[in-house]
Amino acid sequence: EAPPVVSSGNKKDLRSPICCILGHVDTGKTKLLDKIRQTNVQGGEAGGITQQIGATYFPIEAIKQKTKVMAQYEKQTFDVPGLLVIDTPGHESFTNLRSRGSSLCNIAILVIDIMHGLEQQTIESIRLLRDRKAPFIVALNKIDRLYDWKEIPNNSFRDSFEKQSRAVKEEFQTRLTNIQIALAEQGLNSELYFQNKNMAKYVSIVPTSAVTGEGVPDLLWLLLELTQKRMSKQLMYLSHVEATILEVKVIEGFGTTIDVILSNGYLREGDRIVLCGMNGPIVTNIRALLTPQPLRELRLKSEYVHHKEVKAALGVKIAANDLEKAVSGSRLLVVGPDDDEEEMMDDVMDDLTGLLDSVDTSGKGVVVQASTLGSLEALLDFLKDMKIPVMSIGLGPVYKRDVMKAGTMLERAPEYAVMLCFDVKVDKEAEQYAEQEGIKIFNADIIYHLFDAFTAYQEKLLEDRRKDFMDYAIFPCVLQTLQIINKRGPMIIGVDVIEGELRVGTPICAVRTDPATKERNIMLLGKVISLEINHQPVNSVKKGQTAAGVAVRLEDPSGQQPIWGRHVDESDTLYSMISRRSIDTLKDQAFRDQVARSDWLLIKKLKPVFGIE
Ligand code: GDP
Repeated sequence: EAPPVVSSGNKKDLRSPICCILGHVDTGKTKLLDKIRQTNVQGGEAGGITQQIGATYFPIEAIKQKTKVMAQYEKQTFDVPGLLVIDTPGHESFTNLRSRGSSLCNIAILVIDIMHGLEQQTIESIRLLRDRKAPFIVALNKIDRLYDWKEIPNNSFRDSFEKQSRAVKEEFQTRLTNIQIALAEQGLNSELYFQNKNMAKYVSIVPTSAVTGEGVPDLLWLLLELTQKRMSKQLMYLSHVEATILEVKVIEGFGTTIDVILSNGYLREGDRIVLCGMNGPIVTNIRALLTPQPLRELRLKSEYVHHKEVKAALGVKIAANDLEKAVSGSRLLVVGPDDDEEEMMDDVMDDLTGLLDSVDTSGKGVVVQASTLGSLEALLDFLKDMKIPVMSIGLGPVYKRDVMKAGTMLERAPEYAVMLCFDVKVDKEAEQYAEQEGIKIFNADIIYHLFDAFTAYQEKLLEDRRKDFMDYAIFPCVLQTLQIINKRGPMIIGVDVIEGELRVGTPICAVRTDPATKERNIMLLGKVISLEINHQPVNSVKKGQTAAGVAVRLEDPSGQQPIWGRHVDESDTLYSMISRRSIDTLKDQAFRDQVARSDWLLIKKLKPVFGIE
């Protein structure tokens, strides 16, 4: 075996790649982050790992330490100065770390629990990653939970795996295969990273344990390998600034600040910056650039270290005036000596106004509210796929005025008097108002859950409506009387269905026209209480369904039924008693799907019989 080559690194002057962690709740995202962060305590090395704003920075020296155990398997190159891992696991940070189609998150880790396989948020994450064309690897976590796993802390997966019993290896293989099949169902080909010959086509799987640290060296090695080899262009230093606002926060002593991920370029104290605000562009000057105090120095007065200048990639807090309305997830631009400030103001606002294209021009639809620009965008993308129209969009907590917007739908399209909220707080007053006005607020941090809740609600509304209007949903039919079985109390007749479909619940009538006055006389025989064919009860009978005839039991609580032999006789054609109102009811959304084309044709034919225009 050839000796592994270790490059001394960073001759290419690349910046640090940025990495995000996604996955279903409880798969171990936080724990994995903690494990990666943990310095080699036994060795007493700090390794220079620094806690930043919203991110952790791993200098290359720390990564070298942690990936030493990989040397027996892989060549190692260290061309980047380090790795920046975003601290907030989950959708938000991932969806936010993009600007205008280009993702600022260079690579993502999708965590899957080996014991649970693919879960709802796993699938949602895959959808996001795919929509954003973001490169990612899968951490197949919790391998230590395989029955009888023998741990070697912080070891490479391959070495640890070699030392397991046959039963453990078999269980691993079975679970892996099942997960690969499930991934294939989501359209993803996957392969264990060290067997992956085609990184462009196959997603790499790294088995890990966030508890024992096994597989973490493999994960770090692969992150470096992929970013250095396949993304070095994106990692070149740029003269201009690329930065995204992760969070807007009030901090004692600093007022409203923004937490920013600087993915390329430099930021300096005093820089004039342009960013997207809720009510228009914000232009201000950087008053302070802050990162957290290193842990050791916590005794010091200030929680933060001030910087004159910071260099990508890092997470930094910016203090400045007028940041109150800043929009999380939007870009931050720095005005250079030759830049047109006005143009930049338009530019940053595009991030928000661009999303307005998703608003339905008919003015009918739901109100959508999300925590950040990125999550709003993800939600809008999804609703578009699901063909749910959106009337209005908003960012941040839900207040009464937002609910009032949804309230305008109560009159126009009550099924859309709904707010779909993604990962936001709902103000108490807003909640009460919604409750009192009958506006539904759905709030979830899984997009699928919002969709499920919305569709279930729509179905319930329709069901209620069907119940309310059941009496008027009269389907057309034409009957011929074959036999009068019982004249009254109760009236039972034998009929043949000549046209349409006869259903239980339908009111049946005869229509006669006075030859002298030409006056139409519509006589209600009663509502169908039951239908029987050969003494077997049925719910409905279609034309041509039986030659035997149908026994129809009719009931009219008014007691005004016409009398057989006097008002009606067997030669009278019988009809379901349609009216303008019944026709309109069938046109309603609640019933529309149930009315066949042949029903509409028959209704058209019967209109003159009833004198309906
Ligand atoms: P998150 O919701 O994805 O951030 O998940 P957490 O990191 O909070 O982990 C959820 C639970 O799983 C916690 O009780 C962790 O201790 C546990 N856990 C996470 N990773 C592992 C692992 O690799 N092995 C085992 N046995 N437990 C784990």
